[in-house]
Order: sequence, then C-alpha cells, then structure tokens
Amino acid sequence: MIDSEKVNRYRRSYYPMFIDGEWVDAADGNRYTVYNPATGEPLAEVARAGRADIDRALQAARLAFEHGKWRHFSVLRRARVLNRIAEIMRERFDELVELEILNTGKTLFAAQGQIMQAIEDFEFYAGAIVGHRGHVNNMPSGFFNYTQREPVGVCAQIVPWNYPLMMAAWKIAPAIAAGCSVVVKPATLTPVTALVLAEIATEAGVPKGVVNVVPGSGRDVGDYLVTHPEVDKIAFTGSTPVGRHIMELASRSLKKVTLELGGKSPSLIFDDADLDAAVDGSVFGIFYNTGQSCEARSRIYVQRSVYDAFMARFVEKAKKLKLGNPFDPETHVGAVISREQVDVIDGYVRSALEDGAQAVLGGGEVRVPGFEGGYWYAPTILVDVHHGMKAVQEEIFGPVVTVMPFDTEDEAVALANDTMYGLAAAVWTKDGARAKRMADRIRAGIVLVNTPFSAFPGMPFGGTKQSGFGRELGIEALDLYTEVKSVLMYYGTKPLNPFKL
Ligand code: NDP
Repeated sequence: MIDSEKVNRYRRSYYPMFIDGEWVDAADGNRYTVYNPATGEPLAEVARAGRADIDRALQAARLAFEHGKWRHFSVLRRARVLNRIAEIMRERFDELVELEILNTGKTLFAAQGQIMQAIEDFEFYAGAIVGHRGHVNNMPSGFFNYTQREPVGVCAQIVPWNYPLMMAAWKIAPAIAAGCSVVVKPATLTPVTALVLAEIATEAGVPKGVVNVVPGSGRDVGDYLVTHPEVDKIAFTGSTPVGRHIMELASRSLKKVTLELGGKSPSLIFDDADLDAAVDGSVFGIFYNTGQSCEARSRIYVQRSVYDAFMARFVEKAKKLKLGNPFDPETHVGAVISREQVDVIDGYVRSALEDGAQAVLGGGEVRVPGFEGGYWYAPTILVDVHHGMKAVQEEIFGPVVTVMPFDTEDEAVALANDTMYGLAAAVWTKDGARAKRMADRIRAGIVLVNTPFSAFPGMPFGGTKQSGFGRELGIEALDLYTEVKSVLMYYGTKPLNPFKL
C-alpha cells in the first residue's frame, strides 16, 4: 500500500518546468491544469512551455554538453550517478507510484511495475555503459585504427501519456549514460512524474543542464523543438502520423531520429498451446494498462480446433476483470486517459459493430461507482470481424481486442503480418520448432513466446514497418545515443610520402 505520510512530504499543487537544475516558471507565466482521468478532478497545475522556454532548456543542455563535465566524467562515475538516481527513486517509490496513478488513472499493480522498471532502467544502463566501448580493427602494417563511442550531443526526447515515467526513463537513462544532455517533452496530459524525475536526477548528482523537462503542447512547440538547431537527435514515442511528421522535419537538418510508434500486435494461439496459459496471457496482453500500450496484443488468432475452447475460457476470464478504484490492489483495469480517447475507442467499436462484428463482451463506456466523473471503457472482445475492418487494422489504444480463427501456420503468419505495423507478436505453442519458425516468419521487432510480458531492461524494444525504428531498453540504445569515432594512426618508422615527391 501507499505510504501517504511519505508521499505528502513531496506533493506539489504546482509543478514548474525543470531547466538547468532548477524549477522555473514559463517565461510568459503560462500554466495549465492536469487532471485525474479516473475521477475527472484536477490534480495539479503545471507550467506550460512556450518557444522561449524551449530555447532556454536547449541552451542549458547545449552549454552542459559543450562546456560541462558530465560527458568527461569517467563511465564509472556516470554509472555511480545513475545508480544513485535509482536509489532515490526507490526512496521516493510511493510518491512516484501515487503521482503516476493520479495523473493516468492506471492501476496500482500497473504503476508499481512500471516505476520499478523505470528504476531498473537506470541500474541497467549504469552497468551497460561500463562495457560499451569501441574496437581495434586490423589494419595494414604500420597503421593502427581504433574506434571510440562519443555522445551524440543534445537530445530532444518526446514522451507519450501511456507510460509517462517509464518512457521518460527508457529515454533519459541511456542518453545520460552515454554522456548526452536531454530536453524531455512529456505529453501534455501527463507531465508530472517526468518533472519529478528531473529533480531526482539533479539530487543524485547529474550536473545542471544535463536533464531538462519542459511540459508543453506538441501542437504548439513540437515542431519548434524538433527543428531547433541545438537539437542533435530526436527520440520519439507516440503515434505513427506524428512520428512521420517528425521524421520529415528532422530530415531537413539531418538530425538523428529514433521512432517508437504504434502497433497492432497479433497473438497466435496454436492447438498444442497450454490453453490456460494462453488465455491468461491473452487477457493480460490486451487489458493490461487498459489496452493503452503500443505492444498491446490487440488481434488474437486461434487455431480452429481449439477456437471454441479458447473463447469460452477467454470470455469467462475477461468477465472477471475488475474496474474500479485504481489504488485498490484488486483492480485490474484502470481508467482511459481522456474523454477524447474514450471517443476514439468507441468510434472503432461502433464502426466494427456496424460492419457486422459482434461484441461478446463489453462494447461501450462503463459507469464505475464512485468514479462517475472519470473516463472508463468496458473490456471489449469483438468476434465475427474481417481483416479489412478498421478495428483489425488500426491501433485502437484501448481495452478492445478482435478474435479470429485460423487453420494453418501459413495462414497464421499471413494474418499476423497483414497490417502496416510490426511492433510485437505473441506465439503460444508447446512445439519449440514451431515457435522458432513463427519467430523467423513474423515481421515484428519483438516476438514473445508463451509469455504475457513484453519488456524487461536489457531486452531491445522497438518496431519494424510503420512501428518505427531504433531500439530502446536494450544495450542497442547506447549505440543510438553515441557516434563512432574512428581514429587512424601511423606508427611506422619510415615517413609516408604517397606522391613520392
Ligand atoms: P501523439 O503521437 O500525438 O503524442 C505523443 C507525444 O508527441 C506527446 O508528447 C505529444 O505532445 C507529442 N507531439 C504531438 N505532436 C507533436 C509534434 N508536432 N511535434 C512534436 N511532438 C508532438 O499521440 P496522442 O497522445 O495524440 O495519441 C494518439 C494516438 O497515438 C493513440 O490513440 C495511440 O494510437 C497512439 N499512441 C501511441 C503510443 C505508443 O506508445 N506507441 C503512445 C501514445 C499514443 P502532446 O501531448 O502535447 O500532444
């Protein structure tokens, strides 16, 4: 349970921006209110960044990068600071969990797991950076070539609302481990925990200017941030259309880009699977985090011979899901992030039903006693769908899953690959050879075999096709926050005179 006394020590009614190691107001004094989506009640006021604040944050980041000490610290010293960030996060665990729940409406179970993973990200990259190094390459006699990894510079990191702190950690931890400076733009709806994380990083010993957090609307300041001459690299997590737009803008000045975009991840359940595990894993795979996950397994395909057995148990288990007080450890499904997102979800469901789909569970908004002012959607299972439907092809980002039967492995692969996305895919089978064949044939950045879980620190996470490119969470992220410098030296005794002058 949450230790309220400890939490109240830290709570603020107003969260300014965090720039150059300090809490600061927006230059024009702008503020806005963030809400608790479970109740619809205001949570706090937050400073709203304008262009002048983006300039200020980027200047601080640039100064810290060019003239500061951070990137010149030994990797062991940087690693110590990352570990100290993790330690302080552990001390302030309850506060971070509570704030994340209040700002997103997610459940205690989900928030605790995600904050713990954010902590472990810092611990992982503290270790990983120590072993991240260059190479010595074989050269002609008299020549010596080595490579070294250097930080890419100032990074703009744009974070979505579905995992506000965890996504911020996925981005900040590898970037600062590599020696970069960052300006983080959290989602307008959920900026609070990323701001607290910046404060924690400073307390842990990250020099001022290295980690800056500027809440501001993507529509108003997003383009300005992305095209800013002080930005060397952009790391973005969010929707595919905004990802495309950012890449277009970034191409004009050749900024490096990492894009973690939408998904429509399939789950393939074969007739030899442990059906109970497949059912439990599939319930979790879609309804965890209220379906607001880029890797939510939102399309289920079941081999025809076990389809009826699977469906009976799947619907029965999903009926047991409890919606309600997000702080109750027994609650499985939390609120949807906003009124707008409820409307988006409902639009997909209505359109599928009009096209002939059946909702065997849910299919609409739901009233949760005690939380009438909040945004809630019933866990929804759609059957009798066809593959061209929007609900099967597009990312819904809510607690909605479609289920279809298949007959053969070839058909399963074809269905799994038949969307523009390629983020994750789950395979449920006891046949190891089949699991390997599926892992080889499915076009996705992540294949999950017999597991509901999809992300651990150390495991590269990212997509193919329109789900983006680049990897986070794994050691590969360090490659993306560093550049290779190649140094060629001549050590022969005879001076070189290639023109023979
Ligand atoms: P967006 O892609 O619009 O937002 C993600 C982040 O990008 C937010 O911080 C947002 O800021 C910012 N942003 C928006 N426009 C720009 C821009 N022009 N330049 C720079 N940054 C920008 O997602 P939404 O929040 O609108 O959600 C819409 C849909 O996107 C969801 O229904 C879901 O399908 C998908 N999505 C996917 C996510 C994933 O994990 N892959 C995460 C979130 C959403 P601001 O909050 O101020 O708008």
